Amino acid sequence: MINKIRGLLTQWYELNKRTLPWRDSGDAYRIWLSEIILQQTRVEQGTPYYLAFTNRFKTITELADASEDEILKLWQGLGYYSRARNLHAAAKQIKNEFGGKFPTSYESIIQLKGVGPYTAAAISSIAFNEAKAVVDGNVIRVISRLFGIEEAVNNAQVQKQIQTLADELLDHAKPGMFNQAMMEFGALYCTPKNPNCAECVLSTFCIAKKNNLVAVVPFKEKKLKRRSRFFHFIVFENEGKTFLQQRGEKDVWQGLFQFPLIETESDFELDSDMINQNLNAEIQVNKAVKVKKHVLSHQDLWGRFYHVSGEMQNVSNYKLVSINELHTFALPRLIDRYLETEPFNA
Ligand code: SF4
Repeated sequence: MINKIRGLLTQWYELNKRTLPWRDSGDAYRIWLSEIILQQTRVEQGTPYYLAFTNRFKTITELADASEDEILKLWQGLGYYSRARNLHAAAKQIKNEFGGKFPTSYESIIQLKGVGPYTAAAISSIAFNEAKAVVDGNVIRVISRLFGIEEAVNNAQVQKQIQTLADELLDHAKPGMFNQAMMEFGALYCTPKNPNCAECVLSTFCIAKKNNLVAVVPFKEKKLKRRSRFFHFIVFENEGKTFLQQRGEKDVWQGLFQFPLIETESDFELDSDMINQNLNAEIQVNKAVKVKKHVLSHQDLWGRFYHVSGEMQNVSNYKLVSINELHTFALPRLIDRYLETEPFNA
């Protein structure tokens, strides 16, 4: 199967590859320049910049000797200006450390400023025929669909699996051509939206197509931003009774019981007046206790507990309960922990 996919992709590439000014040049300088320009940039947008740079700087040494201002001026409009600065720094590195000749192996190319594993694999395979499989967004998409990978592709294990499959697929006799075929296939056929499955030469092998998963593969696990929340629980005590309220839906601890809660945007200690205003009560704080943070999957909860006495309205969502029966209510772990260290009748 791997051999068949490799053969079909190669044939497809020969028939469908776009004519691009750096393609087939075999010149590491030009391939490197195109790769840096095309990071975060579409081919149509990047091509005029590539032509402007190669017209102005015929050699890496000319690029190295240019002023940063001139390079930034030529780069103007492409965005991500750190790429232009890195390009200049790498040109100087090549001039000073490699005698102006582009380094010829993956291991030396990856030492250049602004060059990561993907770019080093692309240059070393395309310019120097080194058998290094590239894995960019296009390759990830093609491989995860072909092999029906139903796990998040930003997971480290899955990334390793994709690299292994890319290494197995690679044509060791023509790695540069094959890497370009994979990327071109992802850019033109196996696109993120509406891939051309109807005309795809690999469709009979494609597990995502077979299992109707093309629209969902590949996917990434969203890294949710952690959120800090500050909870103030009002622990009322009067004649052996306290108030509880039940938590609502669509939030943490759904349906569990808690002491009447005031939530604030930042961490500070409430005083009696603030509590009275918020809860329409007439209480006095006897003791305020801060507990450690409670870590949930995407939230850090900070709890403060206020022991109060006085008058509190028995509003509809509060429940006046006997302190002796507290253990019969489902309480969040944060409150349980608090009661273990600060029991009512201590
Ligand atoms: S059948 Fe569709 S999803 Fe599968 S490799 Fe071809 S274009 Fe991509």
